[in-house]
Amino acid sequence: MERGFDKPREGCGVFAVAGRSPSVAASQLAYLGLFALQHRGQESAGIAVSDGTTIRIHKGMGLVPEVFKGEDLSGLPGCLSAGHVRYSTTGGSRLENAQPILGTCRLGTIAVAHNGNLVNARSLSRALQEEGAILQSSSDSELFLHLLARSGRRDIESALIQSMQSVVGAYSLVVLSADRVIALRDPLGIRPLVVGEMEDAYIFASETCALDALNARFIRDLGPGEMACATREGLTISQAVPSGKQALCVFEFIYFARPDSIIEGSNVHIVRKRLGEALAREYPVDADMVIAAPDSGISAAIGFAEAAGIPYDTGLARNRYIGRTFIRPTQEMREMGVKIKLNPISDLVRDKRVVIVDDSIVRGTTSAKTVGMLRSAGARSVHMYIASPPIRFPCFYGIDTSDQGQLIAAQLDTGDIQRRIGADGLGYLSLDGLISAVGTSKGLCLACLTGEYPTELC
Ligand code: SF4
Repeated sequence: MERGFDKPREGCGVFAVAGRSPSVAASQLAYLGLFALQHRGQESAGIAVSDGTTIRIHKGMGLVPEVFKGEDLSGLPGCLSAGHVRYSTTGGSRLENAQPILGTCRLGTIAVAHNGNLVNARSLSRALQEEGAILQSSSDSELFLHLLARSGRRDIESALIQSMQSVVGAYSLVVLSADRVIALRDPLGIRPLVVGEMEDAYIFASETCALDALNARFIRDLGPGEMACATREGLTISQAVPSGKQALCVFEFIYFARPDSIIEGSNVHIVRKRLGEALAREYPVDADMVIAAPDSGISAAIGFAEAAGIPYDTGLARNRYIGRTFIRPTQEMREMGVKIKLNPISDLVRDKRVVIVDDSIVRGTTSAKTVGMLRSAGARSVHMYIASPPIRFPCFYGIDTSDQGQLIAAQLDTGDIQRRIGADGLGYLSLDGLISAVGTSKGLCLACLTGEYPTELC
């Protein structure tokens, strides 16, 4: 899925391979898997590989194909790997924060790759530093390595279980040691993690789209609080820590995950279509066409159009080759990015009553620009409908909306936002509409919509 702009930003994607045969080229499989997960993080990428005795790592800043050239992959021999793509949600955008993070301790050399944020990272790192730890990065993922190193346990699995008892927050983790790959998920299952299998390898990935990229067979979602360990001998999955009621991030369905992924049994595109259908039922409107805010609003816009009986068309062309607007650090740069990224198809929207469907609004800057562009292109009216409720509260679980001051819906009510973005109408999907359209029997995290956080915030 392409990233939009002015959107919540996903923190990371993880991927791991546990080959059962020495012929498995784990670095190449990880490359393909991370490529499929590129939407989850575009700032850095890394792969650590074990040949059974030595762990080698290559990581760098940029997109997966920018970080890895052919010779980089051939310099990573071995049938076990752990990989990571990152967008910084904690820690800065610096090479030392790129993952996997590698360290050597009593348990051997270990590489850790992490999706999610620990809410007690600050107190943990203070406590570790008071005990003499030297932290190499500002990424809270490094904390896992320190907890493993300080564990008195004799094997890595029980050291990980002990570490899980010290951390609070969201973590879908893949861990590589010389002879095994371990995957684990926090007790609330906030970020996704799936287990798959190829003929001679087990695969762990943030999303099923990465399994599909390798023609791997989906085995199952790793459950909240579960740990999977894959070695040459086979795969074991156990309940590492007791799980509470699941709190799967609802924005995985709304925006983060790729539309072809299946999360907890539900295809993301189909869920998004249902969000659009629910939105159309909540906001009956007379219009000539429904268009999407590309690309993340497309599935919901199709659902809206079908339910409303209004034709769907492509009203906005998007330049797919521009760098990620997210990465631009300043508001001014972000706004410049928007101008060259989107362009209305004037002959289509001129004199039309246009409905534009988007998945979410964070700051509202892009929404205002988009509405302005459609008006400049001659649209007679522009109604904007959003396939999620207003984001009013910060996220502390690995999504970059931690500054409440940046959230337009935390400052303004819907009428004021409508005026701010210059739309003729603005409607957000209701919370009930969202929950029933997502339709999972699993519990959801809705904290950025409701302010009810599934963990303590430390
Ligand atoms: S607070 Fe929002 S973005 Fe963060 S995990 Fe919960 S639902 Fe997802």
